[in-house]
Formats: sequence, C-alpha cells, structure tokens
Amino acid sequence: MSTVPHPPPAVEALIADGTTVEIRPIAPSDRDAVLGLHADRMSAESRRLRFFGASRRAPELAAERLCTDGRPGLLALGAWAGGELIGEADCEALDDPATAELALAVADEWHRRGVATLLLEHLVHAARGRGVRVFEADTLAGNRGVHRVFADLGLPVHRRLEQGEIRVRVPLDETDEHYREAVDGRGRRADVASLGPLLRPASVAVLGASRRPGSVGRTVLRKIRDGGFTGPLWVVNPKAQEVAGERSYPSVGALPAVPDLVVLAVPPGVVAGAAEECGRAGVRALVVLTAGLGQAESRQLMRACRRHSMRMVGPNSLGVAQTDPAVRLDAEFGGAFPLPGTAGVAVQSGGVGIALLERLAWLGIGVSGFVSLGDKYDVSGNDLLRWWEGDGRTELVLLHLESFGNPRAFGRTARRVTRKLPVLTVDAGRSTAGRRGAASHTAAAATPTVTREALFRQAGITATRSIDELVGTAALLYAQPLPAPRGAVAVVSNAGGIGILAADACADAGLLLPELAPDLLESLPEGASARNPVDTTAAVGPAELARCLKAVEHSRAVDALLVCLVPTALATATDGDPVRALLDGPARRRIPIVAVLLDQQVPVRHLTCDDGGRLPSYSDTVAAARALAHARDRARWLAEPSTAEADPPGCDPKAARALVEAHLVAEPDGGWLDPLSTADLLDCYGLPLTTSVWARDEHSAVAAARGLRGLGHGGEVVLKAYWPGQVHKSAAGAVRTGLATDAQARAVFREFGERFGGRLSGAVVQPMAAPGLELLVGVVQDRVFGPLVVLGMGGTTADVLADRTARLAPLTEHDLTAMVTELRGAPLLLGYRGAPPVDLAAVRDVLARISRLAADLPQLVEADLNPLIARPDGVICVDARIRLEPRPSFDPYLRRLRRPAAVQDE
Ligand code: ADP
Ligand code: MG
Repeated sequence: MSTVPHPPPAVEALIADGTTVEIRPIAPSDRDAVLGLHADRMSAESRRLRFFGASRRAPELAAERLCTDGRPGLLALGAWAGGELIGEADCEALDDPATAELALAVADEWHRRGVATLLLEHLVHAARGRGVRVFEADTLAGNRGVHRVFADLGLPVHRRLEQGEIRVRVPLDETDEHYREAVDGRGRRADVASLGPLLRPASVAVLGASRRPGSVGRTVLRKIRDGGFTGPLWVVNPKAQEVAGERSYPSVGALPAVPDLVVLAVPPGVVAGAAEECGRAGVRALVVLTAGLGQAESRQLMRACRRHSMRMVGPNSLGVAQTDPAVRLDAEFGGAFPLPGTAGVAVQSGGVGIALLERLAWLGIGVSGFVSLGDKYDVSGNDLLRWWEGDGRTELVLLHLESFGNPRAFGRTARRVTRKLPVLTVDAGRSTAGRRGAASHTAAAATPTVTREALFRQAGITATRSIDELVGTAALLYAQPLPAPRGAVAVVSNAGGIGILAADACADAGLLLPELAPDLLESLPEGASARNPVDTTAAVGPAELARCLKAVEHSRAVDALLVCLVPTALATATDGDPVRALLDGPARRRIPIVAVLLDQQVPVRHLTCDDGGRLPSYSDTVAAARALAHARDRARWLAEPSTAEADPPGCDPKAARALVEAHLVAEPDGGWLDPLSTADLLDCYGLPLTTSVWARDEHSAVAAARGLRGLGHGGEVVLKAYWPGQVHKSAAGAVRTGLATDAQARAVFREFGERFGGRLSGAVVQPMAAPGLELLVGVVQDRVFGPLVVLGMGGTTADVLADRTARLAPLTEHDLTAMVTELRGAPLLLGYRGAPPVDLAAVRDVLARISRLAADLPQLVEADLNPLIARPDGVICVDARIRLEPRPSFDPYLRRLRRPAAVQDE
C-alpha cells in the first residue's frame, strides 16, 4: 500500500559560510519569489546556463512549473535567507516514478556559498523517501558551477556528452558511507564557520549594562574590558549616556560598526525584541545571559536568531570566555578570567562551571575556551565538540551537560572527536535509560544493569561520577602519558597499610596488580616487601625510593605506577623527605606515574618536578586509582580498531519505512505492532523469525497446526493466544508448546477461548523450534545516546538473570564481537563443558540487522526478540515485539539545525 507523501517539513540549516537558511517546499503562494529569483537575482548569463537560451519567458515558465498546485511528480525545495528566496532545487518524475529530472537555480550573489549543495542534500533525502532512485539532468558543458556541485556532492555521478550538452545521472540508491562522510564534513565546516563570530568575535557590544554597579550586564562589561579584549567593545543603553566609564549608544544600529557578538543582559520581556534589533543590524552571534523567559518570548528569541542567521548561547547562560591572546574575551560573570591553555570547558549549569574553572586554576590547567550553555536553545555540546576538534588550541575537553543535542549525531561526533582529544564528562546517573521504557518490557528494562558509564565509553567519552573525579582524571590526562591498554599497576608505598588500601582501590577500579619478580627490588630496607603492593617501610629515603621506582618503571611488568607516601620522621631525619624521589626524577617516564600524598590538603594538585614537568598528586587512593582506570580505558578505546558500521546485505529500509508509515497512518499514536506486521517488518531486514501463521478461529488453528507439524521439532507445534496490548504471554497462560496432534491443537484453542474470552482476537501457530540457548536481542531508546542495541540471556528467566549488554546503534563490526563476549553467560555461547559453541556468525548477523533497523527507523522505539534460540546450526526467533511512536521521519545525517521542544513553533 502506498501512502500520500507528506511535504518535507520546513527546516533551518547552515550553508558553507555559516549563514542560516530555511529550506522548505515551494508552494503556489511563492510565485512572486520564484519569479524574482529567476528574473532579478540571476544574470542573463546565469539564466542562459540554466535554461539553455535567452528566452524572456524563462522566469515565468519556471514560476508556472514550480508553483502550480499539486503538479504530480514534482518536488521543489526553496532556500530562503532573511525572508528572500535565494535558491531552488527541484526534481520531477516524468514517465518512470523512479527517475526524476533535476533542476537547480541559485541567486548570483549566493553562488559558491554552498546553497545548491545544501538544497541538493535535502532534495536527495526527500526524493529517496518517495521512491526516486535516479536524478538526471541536462547541463551545458560550460556550466562549471553546476558541475562542481555534482562532483563534490559525494554521490556517484555519471556523465555523458550529447551534442554539446552533458547528461548527468546520479543514482540515489546507495546510502554509502562516502556520501555520509561528505555530508558530515560539510556540516562540520558550516558549523565551525557559524561559530566564529561567537567564539572568536572581532567586536563585541553589551546590551543591558545598567549604571547600577553589580548588575549582570555591568559586571560582564567590566570583565570584558579588564580582560583586555582585543577588538572594539561598545555599550548599548538608551537610558544612559555612559556606563562604567564607557560611552553608551542608544541602539545597536547607532554603533560605529556592526558588532560580531552581542551580549544580552536585558530583562526577559525585552530579550526577543533586542535580539530582533541585533539581527536587523547584521549581528552574527548572541550570548543571552537573561534567565526566566516565558515560552512565547523563548520562541520569539529563537525565531529572531534563525531568521537573521545568528548563533546563540543561552538563554540563562553565565557567558563565554576565549583565552586566545589574539582575542582575549572574558564575557562571563562567573569567576576570574581563566588562564590561557588547552582545556575546552562547556557546562550547562553555571555553578558547575565556576567550580570547574576554580579547580582547573588550582591545578594550573589553562583553558582554551569556556562556554556556559545555559538552556541550550541553539548552541549545544555537539557544536562545541566540533569547534574544539579543530581550533588548533584545545587538547582536552571537559563537559558537564545533561544532553548533547541531537542524540543520533552525538554518537558519531563523539566517536570521531575522542580519537583526537580526550573528552571528559560528569555522569551523575541522574536518569537511567531503562526507567523511561515500558516496565513490561525486557529489553527496555535492560539498561539499568548496563552502566551509562559503559555507553559513554563506547562513544569514547570518559564519564566520571563527580566533579572531583572529573578534575582528578583531567589532571592525569593533562600531565602524563596514557598507560598501555593492559593497565597493570604497581603500587609503591612507604607505609604498608596505605599500600594495601591503594591496591584495593586499584582492584575495585578494575586495574590489574601483577605480582612483581622477587629479585626486582633488591636494595630495599630490612622488613620491606617487594611484591605488589611494594612496601618500602617508613625507613626508606629519597635515593633508595628513586632506585626502586626506576627498577619498577623499567621492569615491563606494569603499565603505571602509583606511589603513596606518608611523611615519616624516620626517613626525613636520616635521608630527607621521600617525596624528593618524585620531584628529583623526570615527570614523564616510560609509564604514567601518579602520587598519593596523605598529608595533602586539596583532593588533587600537580607536583612540579625539577625538569619542569608535572605529575598529579591525590589526597586519596580511590581518586588516584579511578583516574588511572579512566586513562587505561581511554588507551583501550584508542587501541580498539575503529571498524566500519556493520552493513548486512539484503535489508530493505524502503519497504520497512512504508510499513511503518502505513501503520502510523492507521494508528497515529503508535503502539505495539500485531504479530503479522511484526513479522513483515522483521522480514524487511532479513531477521530470522520462525514461520508464524495467524489463525482467527478454531478451524484455521487446527489446519495451520496440521500444516506446520512437519516443520516442527519432534513433529510438534506451538499455539500462542493473541490480543492487542498483551504483555507477557507465558505468564498469562497464552503459550502452549509441544502440541503433537490435531486434537491437542483444537483443545488448546478452545481453552484460550474460555480463558481469554472476548479479548482474544486469535492465535499464532508456529512450528516447535529445536531446543537451544535462549537469547534476547532488542532495541531501546536513550535520551542522551539515541537507539541502543541490547543483547542478553533470554527466555522466561531473562529478568531474573539480568545478564545484558547494550551498545550504541549503529554497531560497528568490533561491537558485534565485543557484545557477544562481554556477557557473563558468554561461555554458554562459546561452548561450555564440551558442548559445541552456538552459531556465533548468525548471532552477530542478527545484531547487525537489528542495529540497522534501529538506525533506519526513528519511529521504532522498542523492539524485543526474546527468545532468539541459538544453536550450533543457526538461530531462530520465536517471539518478537515492536513498538512504534510517531516521530518526524528524518535522516539523522540530514543537515539541519536542532530546535529543542521548548522553542518549537506550534
Ligand atoms: P512470552 O515471552 O510473551 O512469555 P514467548 O513466545 O517468548 O512468550 O514464549 C515463552 C517461551 O516459550 C519461550 O521463551 C520459549 O522457551 C518457548 N517457546 C515459545 N515459542 C516457541 C517455539 N515456537 N518453539 C519452541 N519454544 C517456544
Ligand atoms: Mg518472549
């Protein structure tokens, strides 16, 4: 069945130079705009290239073609900037609905700014959704602009020369990685371009700085000035001649030049109006400090930003800081201007931001940039990751965020950025993904047992449990090399009891403490223990300790050193303070080294060694061990092969989408699919569901049973009662296995009728599957991470055992292997006590297929294949459930700016 395609929704996106444009379908009411584009905003030469001649009527004909209501087979998208149509891309399917003739037109002054490419990406997306498989276009050989657009698009392009014209053919079938990479790369460059005026402004104005000392606006004004901002700084305040010694202008328009960035500290009621004023004047970025905006004001603010192409931080932001000496912008009202350095810091809560900056200052870790995102209407963590990834200054990113923007884009961005820089975040475990899922549902219940820390780790992000842990880990990653992925640690202490505590802390953090060779440390004092933890005794002096550390460092038995020292009168009296052993040595050694100094007052600081290098020192063994474990995890992540996304053959996302859309037309609120639709959807992705025959009445149930018995293990079938909204079937007595005769099938169907009465809508008849290991494979949606694929021990004991693992979709080839091996029950799959292993290739294949299903269909909010019966000769699923929810169907990689729910237009 085919559904009437919805027109693509209006979205906003960035073109290559960072300008925001709106992309929306061209409507009959856009006739004048289309005429204007072709007649006024294109030169005669551009028109000749577009229309192959100099016909005066060309603009009119174009308007006629694009603006006729309901013209079949036509899909036309326009790009608007500042309310003006600046470009158009359309395709029209003529005889064959799978082939569409493509046309493009861009206003002359917008050439070479990525308008055509952006339009084409959106047209490709919309056309694919309507079953178009090929674009074709006739172009003049001399139309270099259009040939460059095609060449750079990232899709395969075939050209054929025909009498001076080039016939271009672009197949759209491939959803290949190359195109995604190209789209993603363009998105990154456009994003970074749009953020320049915000994060490296050449000029700044403050709006709302009042004469009252201590007000937010005035404080920021003073900080920008005192921070030594390198560009012009202006004040706009219609009610004052002068604020804090600066001349004040009555409006943004009255300023000597248009500022790149405006900091808004005006009351909530006038924020949107002020933003509109800035936009009209040509301002490119806003930092909105104002808090307490109502919904209407928020929407107006957002609209002003998008209409006038301004990127915005906030509202409810503490401000931004840029320490680059070429800029030196301190536009925040938190703490002291951070030291220049290499850490990028982004926070949602201002308070946390202040705390983080203070701690970094203690450590002497400088900041490259600081952004307090506040309510995050526009600029999000994703944007900043992209900015810091390539700003040439940032080497370490610290985030405190509740969400990262578009969750599907987040995983992709994070996985890429974290290969280059460590990204650390605090995950307070506020909300486990599973809690939101339907409690009735096994896969949804799975995520609490899978720690969110592990999910962050898959994205390459170092997730810590507290601010102190975040800072402690940053101190290590900043100053010391990473350990080898094995993560074996030697603990050396001058007080045995502390050494034991440190050893326990390392073990708790999952670090190995191998026993050291007995002859490794020969020169230790009487009574010392040279195993691991090494106890040097309190009598050790710095020289002896230094020898000991050197011996361990070069032993190759361990990958990191944890040194715990207690000040002892004994050592100090004879040889000097043992801490000298650390300070006199090199800060950077063959392996990372951390200290625990029990008399230290602050949780973490950097010791500066004689060679000028630093090593982190903690007041507590647990903090040191956790920091080492995070460093080890990062080393493991970097060592992990970054294999491509699993791409199983024979998936039919188009058919699946049609099925989902048809279902949502019939059931606009979504819900669980019935058994037949479930089977159809799984079939689109080649997922192995056992033969399931639907029987409405007793007669057809018996007939189905008779027909299926031959396929069943032991000549038996299974009957399952079905009614809409059912939860656990076996618990309700709705599953009857092992039926060998017609009489049994008939009796069971009758029994269902008696037991479930009017609720019963029929039964599913299946052949009995041969016994095997029961697994669970599923999909759940996470607020932060998007879709997760879950694998676990399944069957009716699934909830009791709760042996599960989850990974971000789409899965990589590496994920497939890792998931299978990280279950506690893995030995049962791999072959246990002489039993042969199950068909692991088939299990991996199911995971790959379910991952594609989850990644392709955002409306699929839960899926549960339980059990998937795994045997040495293959796998088969005997029970599957899928729940849909209405969601705008979008390609997660389609370039468009995010609109948080709070600021969506009604
Ligand atoms: P529910 O999960 O709703 O209780 P299932 O359809 O998963 O219902 O059935 C429960 C259990 O019955 C399964 O875990 C499996 O052990 C067994 N079972 C169900 N269908 C079959 C089948 N076709 N072949 C063999 N065993 C089955
Ligand atoms: Mg089940």
